[in-house]
Amino acid sequence: MKTWEQWMQNQERQMALQTALTLLEYDMETQAPEEARKYTARVIGILNSMLQEETLSEENQRLLEKLAGKKSLTVEQAAMVRRAEKERQRLAAIPADEYREYSELAASSTGIWARARREGDFSLFAPTLEKMLEMTKRFAVRRAKKGQDPYDVLLDEYEETFTREALDPFFSLLKSELTSLLRELTPVVQRVDDSFLHRHCSAERQRQFAGRLADYMGFDRKRGTTAESEHPFTTNLHNHDVRFTNHFYEDQPASAIFTAIHEGGHALYEQGIRDDLTQTPVGGGTSCGMHESQSRFYENVLGRDENFWKPLYGDLQDMLPEAFGDVSLHEFILAVNKPQPSLIRTEADELTYSLHILIRYELEKQLFDGDLEVRDLPEAWNAKMEEVLGIRPENDREGVLQDIHWAQGSFGYFPSYALGNAFAAQLYHQMRKALPVEELLAQGKLSVITAYLREHIHQYGGTRNSRQLLCEVTGEEFNPRYYVEYLREKFTGLYLSRE
Ligand code: ZN
Repeated sequence: MKTWEQWMQNQERQMALQTALTLLEYDMETQAPEEARKYTARVIGILNSMLQEETLSEENQRLLEKLAGKKSLTVEQAAMVRRAEKERQRLAAIPADEYREYSELAASSTGIWARARREGDFSLFAPTLEKMLEMTKRFAVRRAKKGQDPYDVLLDEYEETFTREALDPFFSLLKSELTSLLRELTPVVQRVDDSFLHRHCSAERQRQFAGRLADYMGFDRKRGTTAESEHPFTTNLHNHDVRFTNHFYEDQPASAIFTAIHEGGHALYEQGIRDDLTQTPVGGGTSCGMHESQSRFYENVLGRDENFWKPLYGDLQDMLPEAFGDVSLHEFILAVNKPQPSLIRTEADELTYSLHILIRYELEKQLFDGDLEVRDLPEAWNAKMEEVLGIRPENDREGVLQDIHWAQGSFGYFPSYALGNAFAAQLYHQMRKALPVEELLAQGKLSVITAYLREHIHQYGGTRNSRQLLCEVTGEEFNPRYYVEYLREKFTGLYLSRE
């Protein structure tokens, strides 16, 4: 088919520019010197403009129009066309000069945020955040269809079809169920000792153990690599170059351990995508929420289960004896699952984690509705923390400045973390019917579990959205009840039934 081949050539140029951008962004967070940011941001702005130009070219539009609705396309091809058209429409709503300005701002604002965070001073970041929010809003308003809420435009970008209408009941379910479970558990878990999680541990040996974990999970080092960054993340140039980062704090060894498992989960997803899909518009994981479902499944459902550690715990004790040498496996499991209100989202336990997301969701809605000004964010943040988790940050570093996402312009992104947890629980419910998960973990056969995910989720890349994948794998629509039930069963089992 001639049109298809022409379009593929067109796509290749866009893909190459996107790959260069991904590499530069990865480099900025890992290797690049601090002073490079402003200058490299300029390059990123220019490359983004070139990508926008390619995407909006008359030729691309003409070919997409010809291909849309063509009956002879395969399922994969139709999905590529659909994704590409969605991206074209997104970029078409933004004038070229504004898009370049926005890209540069996004690339440099993370540096400004990092400085403000270091100094614990929100006012250093507020003007940049205001600008970021104003531009994001402006673009969303332009993209909104008649009567569509601009915040919904952004939510849909990160998780297709999960707009406020779907998220409001989801979060209100979580708010009532999770806070009541937390209240039940609190008197008992207060007695659980987790002080050893703050013992001093050499960063070098943490690094070695994190590497051991990545290998144990089946991370393919011929098609992937690891690095360090303040805020850990996973990225990929294609399915043969998947990269993830970690951080090593000498007084928090568990942080690097669970970060390795979490980012490893993201990386396995990307490495598991089929070769015929990589480097196409459907060549990555299908959505942020589905990505989080995979990373959180490995980190929490598997990685905080006692069985996962049976084949590994001896190694952990050998490699980090100063922290875990005198701690039994069961004590370790009780400590790394201990539910307790805390200030920092990324270090939160599995139960309270989604409540941190709820706080961000509620604040974003207020920001988009014009009910909250950026300058009032620190106070609004602290008040929400107190309302939902019962604790109050003492400074902005522990509060509103903790996350990089708003600095990157990612508004509407946070809910996908909580959705990921819920997707994971629904998938897990189904997986347990097919596989003896606990036994496999205890026997060190993680590869059987990964093969299941690869077969049912990973290989498809972006050819199906998360709702479709959930339906295909579980035979049921998205159902957050599985998440609530999973948490209740796990946490009462760990902390209440032994009383
Ligand atoms: Zn993640």
